[in-house]
Amino acid sequence: MDLAVEKTQHKYGKKASHIHFAVLKENGRLVSLSEASEHYPSGCVCLACGNGLDIIKDDAKKLSFSHKGNIVCLDGLELSIYKTMLAVLLKSLQILLPQPASSKAASSSAKLQKLTSAELLSGSAEQPTLIACYAGQAFFRIALNIDGHLSAFDCARLAKQARSAKASLLLINIESNKMGSFSAFEEVLYGNASAKKWLYNKQAEILAEKSRQSSAITSLARGTDGFETAVYRAAHALLAEKLMIMLPQTSIQLPAQQKAEIISKAGIAKLTGSEYTPGGKLPCLACSSGKNAMHIIINFENRLSGIELSKLRNQARQKETSLLLISVPDSNKINNKEALSELLFVDTRSKKWLYNNRIDKLQTKGRNSAALSEPQNTSGIANKKTAALNS
Ligand SMILES: [Zn+2]
Repeated sequence: MDLAVEKTQHKYGKKASHIHFAVLKENGRLVSLSEASEHYPSGCVCLACGNGLDIIKDDAKKLSFSHKGNIVCLDGLELSIYKTMLAVLLKSLQILLPQPASSKAASSSAKLQKLTSAELLSGSAEQPTLIACYAGQAFFRIALNIDGHLSAFDCARLAKQARSAKASLLLINIESNKMGSFSAFEEVLYGNASAKKWLYNKQAEILAEKSRQSSAITSLARGTDGFETAVYRAAHALLAEKLMIMLPQTSIQLPAQQKAEIISKAGIAKLTGSEYTPGGKLPCLACSSGKNAMHIIINFENRLSGIELSKLRNQARQKETSLLLISVPDSNKINNKEALSELLFVDTRSKKWLYNNRIDKLQTKGRNSAALSEPQNTSGIANKKTAALNS
């Protein structure tokens, strides 16, 4: 208890002397200190603890609420401000919101946001008291920084929590000694955006991510950092966004067979990730599908020679990583997002396995068993249906 009191006194040095709002015992109506002192000098209770309040005059003849019987009330000031703010919000159902800092319009326009409802979220050891505001399905939360009691460290922690909860969090700076009237609360909520700041803004994060992706794609058309690099970047952005790719069929030809056998048909494979590494002689995309890794190389204008392709195939075999080659004979045909999407997610004719790790293993197995002069059981292999990355 002593520790807690000390902490609160540290947090709010001014304590009860700055409580400006209370509720009337008789009907629970929220009243300001000035109204209470005029009409209900002994009829008020605390918004936090529910205990009776007196109105006292300090040496400078300034009025203030004081808990009867010198009760130590830890949350009196904080909750009187939160609850009054909530009451004012619920009455008007609107709030002036600043633009997120990352927005281009940040300096210009704050926006008056209509709300459908709002509620108080009680604080806990991990989280301070917050106000949740709802606008249809969307919502955001408000934290009040009363007399600067939240440190920069606290704010960073709150921002992190908000990000992982995917809930936008608005911080409003409050000077408790100025919050003596309802109109002071209205001024904070609707009058100015400068006391408010987004600790985390979900919408801005979504927009920033979208613009990163679309700038990767529009740079295709502009050819800012080399057309081919731009295609790789844009392809990476699309793969990372959709987490899938259309793969060509995989087939196997064993020594004992006349014709290649199709192991798996062309189809969409789900990806778990995509990476783009611009370094090295040849740019390359690395995709993963669970434990399976795959590299993708784009052959622009058929520029890679047969020798280069077989070199790449050997490298892939050494690394035991499947290598998909996408042929783009005419670069002009993939200079927009739609064409690139078509190439990645629909097209099968432009793609072929330069090296497929699974097939290689099946083939090695096949050769080994052929060497043992066993009759080749092709259906056994087909039945495995382990089928490359498509499985
Ligand atoms: Zn109290």
